Amino acid sequence: MVDNKNKHIGSSPDKGTKPEGKGVKEDRSINPDAGMRGKPRRELLSVDEFVAGIENGSRATLSLAVTLVESTRPEQREKARAIIERCVSDTKDTARIAITGVPGVGKSSFIEALGNHVLDKGHRLAVLSIDPSSTRSRGSILGDKTRMKTLANSTDAFIRPSPTGGSLGGVARKTRETIYLCEAAGFDIIFIETVGVGQSETAAHSMVDFFLLLMLAGAGDELQGMKRGIMEMADVIAINKIDEAPEQAVGRAMRAYRNALHLQPAPKSGWKTEVTTCSAITSEGIAEIWERIQTYVNLTRGNGYFKTQRNRQAKHWMYETIESRLKGHFFGHPQVKRKQSVIERKVLKGELSSFQAARQLWDLYEGS
Ligand code: GDP
Repeated sequence: MVDNKNKHIGSSPDKGTKPEGKGVKEDRSINPDAGMRGKPRRELLSVDEFVAGIENGSRATLSLAVTLVESTRPEQREKARAIIERCVSDTKDTARIAITGVPGVGKSSFIEALGNHVLDKGHRLAVLSIDPSSTRSRGSILGDKTRMKTLANSTDAFIRPSPTGGSLGGVARKTRETIYLCEAAGFDIIFIETVGVGQSETAAHSMVDFFLLLMLAGAGDELQGMKRGIMEMADVIAINKIDEAPEQAVGRAMRAYRNALHLQPAPKSGWKTEVTTCSAITSEGIAEIWERIQTYVNLTRGNGYFKTQRNRQAKHWMYETIESRLKGHFFGHPQVKRKQSVIERKVLKGELSSFQAARQLWDLYEGS
């Protein structure tokens, strides 16, 4: 990966125009600049127009396409699938980076700091998130513009809050699909933020090239509360807020993480997980973290791991996609739909076992 100052893939900002019209939900991107005055409703644009708009760097079209991806309506999902299939590319020089850590560790501040550094290097950045707890009304982790002020105002950054509603699997799938749309629109660096309190890290790990774990220097209890497996996913562990943490505590935390890493099996990437420090507020250590990410990408591109990992992820998502479509097909079946709540109530009352209930629904499905 090479920093490409001034080598931006064309975007033509044309601020202030929001597509409107019945059936079009409000644009949820934090910094959409529409390039299509008075034009599109997602229902009216053809797949060809969507793809052309996205590839021309129109963020309005990109935003509309993401809204399609997030839609639960079958015909819109179908259209989204057609667009994504056309947008998938294996040849683009992009990097997908997960940024995780517990709430309050400084993820959004860090994204703001690293994001601006990345923009200064000439990249275009999309910031997406996986937050299964987010809803439209109860602000999602990225729903607040003030969290990433400068990025939100940059024409080279595209910030999109987590898709809402549904299972973690559904939310993650939509985020992954959005990655492809963003890459087709010329965003070559993708950050995936997670809430850092559950399974969303694992979901993020299944779609990124690089996994960054933010931590705080605690008082000797650094590893407490650390979910097993999360450290194993990390390519870099960065101890944030070193501007305010006592030096001794930072040193202790670094030793504790390094010791814990020694116990882990060597990663297949050929990269040794590193522990480092930073401050999202003073930007100390931010440039070094970006250098590490670049070194990692260059190493793994060179030794083939980068591609192997993306292919493995594609296999994982092939099965995820099939499972989700099968589920949709099953629960969308008219007979199943009609009987589902009745049968569910019987299970809740203890009148039917889970096996009998599943069998009855399955018979209705197969009986068609
Ligand atoms: P998130 O919940 O992980 O996204 O964390 P935020 O980025 O919202 O940060 C939580 C709080 O920590 C905010 O008040 C930030 O200003 C503060 N914060 C984040 N990074 C740093 C840092 O490096 N140093 C200091 N002193 N404060 C920080």
